[in-house]
Amino acid sequence: MIFHEAAQYAHVQAAFPETRPMYRKPPIILAQLLQQYRYWRGKILRLLDIKGRTAWLYSPDCQTHFAGSLHPESPERTEAIEQALRRSGLWLLLQKIEAPDVTEVQLARVHTRRYLNDLESRLPAQGQVQINDDTFLSRHTLQAARKAAGAAVKAVDMVMRKQAKNAFCAVRPPGHHAHADKASGFCFINNVAVAAMHLIAEYRLERVAILDFDVHHGDGTQDIFADDPRVMLLSSFEYPLYPFAEGELPAAAGRNPHIVNTPLKAGDGSQAFRDAVRNRWLPALEAFRPQFILLSAGFDAHKDDELAHLRLTEDDFEWLTKKIMLLANRYAKGRIVSVLEGGYHLPSLAASAKAHIGCLVKASPFF
Ligand SMILES: [Zn+2]
Repeated sequence: MIFHEAAQYAHVQAAFPETRPMYRKPPIILAQLLQQYRYWRGKILRLLDIKGRTAWLYSPDCQTHFAGSLHPESPERTEAIEQALRRSGLWLLLQKIEAPDVTEVQLARVHTRRYLNDLESRLPAQGQVQINDDTFLSRHTLQAARKAAGAAVKAVDMVMRKQAKNAFCAVRPPGHHAHADKASGFCFINNVAVAAMHLIAEYRLERVAILDFDVHHGDGTQDIFADDPRVMLLSSFEYPLYPFAEGELPAAAGRNPHIVNTPLKAGDGSQAFRDAVRNRWLPALEAFRPQFILLSAGFDAHKDDELAHLRLTEDDFEWLTKKIMLLANRYAKGRIVSVLEGGYHLPSLAASAKAHIGCLVKASPFF
């Protein structure tokens, strides 16, 4: 065939010695290339769609909890974060997942039935009922809290099943001041505690770390895991400040050796915060080798937040997130679920959460 074509072109070659007969690719190679292209394209798209993306867990029900028009824990908080993400373009890169209700079994691992029944019985038909100093129940509060905890559980399920690389739960009411049998500090159900117990019960994990960088101490979480060494709690907070006045900070009782409190004082900023993380948190995490990292992500340690007196900036939240991600990659297969706690100055909450979520998104191997 080739010899025959070459013979046809012999007179052309004689006139133009540089000219060669055109080489025709056998059709079979084209088909193979097309097949290869389709295979790799499908593989990359599947990875981009599922494994490589950060999940954003939300629920319209979370916006129905209303603690009063002057209360700082307002529905505008999660809306401000969403707006900042939309403006930055990060919004397009998130998988948006609507949270399910937490189940009774999942709740019972952390809270007493008596406490939950008591909350249920006190729900008002309208307005608010004061539970304690600054914690108010409204008609839809429990439904919102059930979705907030359901979001945390769904997020850990997605990350464990490799349906998401990591996740942020944009939920309210917050959870870290909720004890097994007591609501306090705007909190009713302890979302990260429910998620940690779900990891232990459903996935048989033996070492789960909760990192709480809200400006207030995670007293509910500490109380729940005071006797459970499967859970590490690292808590950075301003002291004295709610929930502990001067002299009230309880020493870690020693029953769970993995509770590490790093109090900061009013006026402390980046340097003190980063020193505490470098000198206390990171060595503790290296020794514990967590299989999963949950974040109690409060952004009220920001310098513009009026509920406290620390002086962090969004750069500090970004720095911390990067440090945590390095550790998560080393010990926990990159598994991180972040659950919103405090943060009440809307512009700084939005900027800080955006910096934090931006790091989580960039954990994808495609960035
Ligand atoms: Zn707080």
